[in-house]
Amino acid sequence: MRFPSREIVEGIRKRYPAGSRIELVKMDDMQAPPAGTLGTVTGVDDIGSIMVRWDNGSSLSVCYGEDIVRRVCPVCGGSLTCHPALSRRDNKTEICPDCGTREALAAIGVDIEDQEGVIAAIHELKDEKVSE
Ligand SMILES: [Zn+2]
Repeated sequence: MRFPSREIVEGIRKRYPAGSRIELVKMDDMQAPPAGTLGTVTGVDDIGSIMVRWDNGSSLSVCYGEDIVRRVCPVCGGSLTCHPALSRRDNKTEICPDCGTREALAAIGVDIEDQEGVIAAIHELKDEKVSE
């Protein structure tokens, strides 16, 4: 096993801050939780392993360069893109752009039904851009 440089470890810490919600994609370990298991990041150690409190009770770390996880939105459980939104609730929790839009709309008094309408319209605009 190769140990990552300090810069890479810092990068992992930035990308997976404590409290992040992640989903297991692949882990090569007999004791590994099944793929799709969700967990909460508790920290990143000095060799870049992500320490996790898995929802099934496991606490196996995610090894840098071996295991695969992806960040999920703590609100809706959807995929968290590389450009997440910041939750208005605490100004530090990263959430998906859709949940960011929902929070922003809720903050100005838009009800849930209309929020979904706005999000659907945003997605339609994005789809149009892609097909151009
Ligand atoms: Zn979300």
